[in-house]
Amino acid sequence: MNLISTRVPAPKPWIEAIHAYVPGKSTGADGRPLIKLSANENPLGTSPAALAARASAVEPSLYPDPDSTSLRAALGELHGIDPARILCGTGSGELLGIAANAYAGPGDEVLYVRYGFSLYEIVARRCGATPVIAPDADYGTDVDVLLSMVSDRTRVVFVANPNNPTGSFLPRGEIARLHAALAPEVLLVIDQAYAEYVAPEDDDGALELAASQPNVLVTRTFSKAYGLAGERVGWATGPAGVIEVLNRIRGPFNLNNSAQAVALAAVQDADFVEHSRLHNLDVRASFVRAVEALGNHGLRALPSEANFVLVLFQGALTAEAAYQGLAERGYIVRWLPGQGLPQALRFTIGHARDMDTIAAALGEMAEAAK
Ligand SMILES: *Cc1c(COP(=O)(O)O)cnc(C)c1O
Repeated sequence: MNLISTRVPAPKPWIEAIHAYVPGKSTGADGRPLIKLSANENPLGTSPAALAARASAVEPSLYPDPDSTSLRAALGELHGIDPARILCGTGSGELLGIAANAYAGPGDEVLYVRYGFSLYEIVARRCGATPVIAPDADYGTDVDVLLSMVSDRTRVVFVANPNNPTGSFLPRGEIARLHAALAPEVLLVIDQAYAEYVAPEDDDGALELAASQPNVLVTRTFSKAYGLAGERVGWATGPAGVIEVLNRIRGPFNLNNSAQAVALAAVQDADFVEHSRLHNLDVRASFVRAVEALGNHGLRALPSEANFVLVLFQGALTAEAAYQGLAERGYIVRWLPGQGLPQALRFTIGHARDMDTIAAALGEMAEAAK
C-alpha cells in the first residue's frame, strides 16, 4: 500500500506561470566574490549621517511605527507633498506589487514596454492579470506604440523613467502626452527608481501629475542614489484615494525600526544624493565615451539617464564572452538573456578606476576576438 499521497496543494495557474525575480549576482561561477556592478547600487555607499542613525536605531523588541510617520513627514517636506499622500513600502517593489493587486485582477491587462523592469511581469501575473508587452523603439519607450496597446481591459500601465535595464528616458512632454491619452480609470504608475540621477532641469513632471491627477502613482526608492538597498525602503505618492487603498493591503509594519531611522537621516542629507548624482554623471560620461570608441568593434552604449549603461555587442566580441572575461578580471556585471537581451550587458556605474579598467578590458577582448 502506498502511504505517500500524490495529492498536493495546487498553486493558482497564474502563480505557476511566474518565474522568480533574478537578482544581480555578487560572485563568479566559482563562488569567488567579485566587484559588483550588477544591481545598480551606489558605489559611494551610504550617507555617513544615515550610517550613524542605524547605530542608534530604537529598541528591537518593540514594533516599529506602522505608518513611518517621521519619514513620511521628511519626504513631504523635501518634495512639497502632503504626507497624507505618501505611502512607504518595503522597497518600491512592495508598492509596485500592491498597486497591481489593488487595481488589476483576472481578466484585466497590465501594460508595459518590452525591456521594461522585470518585476512588472511578476506583479502583473501575481494578481492574476494578463501582462501585455508593447514593442520597444530601439530599446526605448515609444508613447504612441504603448498607447496603441491599451485596450478596454487595461487597468494599470507601468513606466519606469528612467527605465531599467535600458536607461532610456521619456521627457516631461512625453509623460504628459501618455497620461493625457489614458482613460482616467487606468492607473499610470511612473516608477522613478532612478529619478535622483536625472538633472533637476530634466525632471519628467511625474510628481506634479501624481499631485494633480486622479490616476497617477509615482514610486521612488532608497535603494539606488540613497545607497540603502539593504534597508528595503521605498515610497509612493498619488491621489489620496489611491494611497488610502494601498495602505489597506501593504505589510502592516512594512518598514522596520532601522529602515525608518536610516532613511529619515538619508532624506536629510541632500548633499550625499547630489554628490552621488554628479559622480555618476561624470563617470558615466567617460565610460560611454570609452565604449563609443569601440564602435568599430560593434559595441554600442544606449543613451542613459540612470546609474547604469546598457551596452550592445554587435561584433566579434559577444556579450556572453565579455561577461565571462570581465568575471575573470574580477567584475560582475549584468547579462540579461532571460529578459531577451543576450546581446547586451548592463554596467552599473561604479568608481572611475573600475570603469576605466572595464573599458580597457573590453577594448582588449574586442581586439582579441577580431
Ligand atoms: C531598482 C529598481 C526598483 C527598486 O526596487 P526596490 O524594491 O525599491 O529596491 C524599482 N524599479 C526599478 C525600475 C528599479 O530598477
